This record gives sequence, structure tokens and C-alpha cells, in this order.
Amino acid sequence: MTGVRIFISFDMEGVAGIVDWSQCRAPGQPYEEGRRLLLGEVNAAIDGALRGGATEFVCNDSHGAMNNLDPEQLHGRATYIAGRHKPLYMMEGMDSDVDAVFLIGYHGSISGDSSVLSHTYNPSVISKVTLNGVECGESGINALVALACDAPVALISGDQQTITEGDPFFKEAERVVVKESITRFAASQLHPLDARDKIAGAARRAVERVASIPVPDITLPARLDVDMRTADMAGVASWVKGVERTGIRSVAIEGPDPLAVYRSFVGITYITRVAEGR
Ligand SMILES: [Zn+2]
Repeated sequence: MTGVRIFISFDMEGVAGIVDWSQCRAPGQPYEEGRRLLLGEVNAAIDGALRGGATEFVCNDSHGAMNNLDPEQLHGRATYIAGRHKPLYMMEGMDSDVDAVFLIGYHGSISGDSSVLSHTYNPSVISKVTLNGVECGESGINALVALACDAPVALISGDQQTITEGDPFFKEAERVVVKESITRFAASQLHPLDARDKIAGAARRAVERVASIPVPDITLPARLDVDMRTADMAGVASWVKGVERTGIRSVAIEGPDPLAVYRSFVGITYITRVAEGR
């Protein structure tokens, strides 16, 4: 096998040990703890993938200000994509050379069952998203980019709800439950060392199986239906290219190109911030 390139999109709320926003937002001691836990899971994914034969890593920081890791501490000589205003947002850095996508530290959707710190992109704006009629979280939306680049989602980690929500779109992926959410702010969690062992083992298997894992199961043309919290937000969202207003508080994006659908969704998340006021 020639080089195997892994793209890792990592979030933070689905990491074992994290149950509170204070662990996910700088500055402060809880945040320092949170980012150590996050680094541990990202590095575990890299270590496992290296053992499986992966040779190259691109890590895209997808949480908050998207600058949560100490780059020097990243394993695998990984490229680290950090910082704000990235056109492909949680999937920045994806391209057709990527052999497999890992989603680490992911969390449940805003509309789904209780999941620690659940939301779908912006919790002040978005109240529900469906992809081809199926309720989805960020993992399903982001899988549009994997499909566009002809790469499988080969690994996902998070709580039990995160895994359930990903199933319709990439059921062949390695799936690691690192915590069982009890409510949106409580979970029964694996010890971080056990969570890392599980992630590393799954990452290794994901690379070994990569040729047999299909690209995301999303029928084209793809359609995203997005419910918003207010009519103003839906109105503003409809100014974005490719977005159609479908109701007082809802819009839809539909098209044959999954990347174009995702780009329009990113446009919605940016432009609706101006209508956020409460
Ligand atoms: Zn996040």
C-alpha cells in the first residue's frame, strides 16, 4: 500500500471527561483540563492509525475558536489546521487525496435525545436539521464533504447519542462510545486512559479495513432541511446562495453536488449570526 492519508475533524464536547461548557471555553483551569483530555483522544486516534499503516495526518480543529491544541504536542507529525473563518469549517482541509475521515470528540444534535452539550453548529440559531429526511447532527452534515471527496467516514467517537445519529450515514465506520450521556450536562464516562485505548484500537482497525468501508450513504441530490429559532433567522438564511425558504422558521438546501450543499449550509451558519439577538 502507498501512503495512507487520514483527515481528523475533532470537536470537544464528546470527549471523555467533558460535561460542562467551562471545560470547552478558554480561559481557565477547567478549559486547560478539557484541552488536555481532547489532545489525548486526538493523539490516541493518530497512534492507532499509525499502527494500522497510516502515514499522513491532517487535523482540523472544529471547536469554538478552533485553536484548542498545543501544535507541538500533536503526534504523527500531523498538520494542524487551526483558527477561525475557514470556508469548509469543520471539514477544512478535506480533499480528494484523503483516504479516510475520522470524527473525534463529536456530540449529539440539538434536536435529538439528551447528549452532553448537544447542539447543531449554532445552538442560538439552529433547532433541527434533517438530511434527506433523516434527523442528523454535525456528523451527518459533515459527511457531505467526505462524500464529495470520495472518502469514507471510518471512525467516529463520542457519546451513545452521537453514534446513533451517525448510523444512518456511515454504519460501517468504527464507532467508539466514550461516555453515556444521562442528561445534557451529565454523563457516565470511561476513564480517559480507557477511552484513548478504545479510540486507538478502533483507529487501527479503521485503517486496516479502509478499503472495505463505503463512502457515506447519502443519496444525491442531497437535501438539508434546517429549522431555525425565529422567522428573522430563516429570512436572513434565505439570502445565501442555494438556500430556499420553506416556512416561517425553515429553509432547505438541495442539489446534486454535496460540497455545494455543505458550502451553502456554512453560509447559513455565518450569516444568521446577525439575527441572533434575543
Ligand atoms: Zn464543539
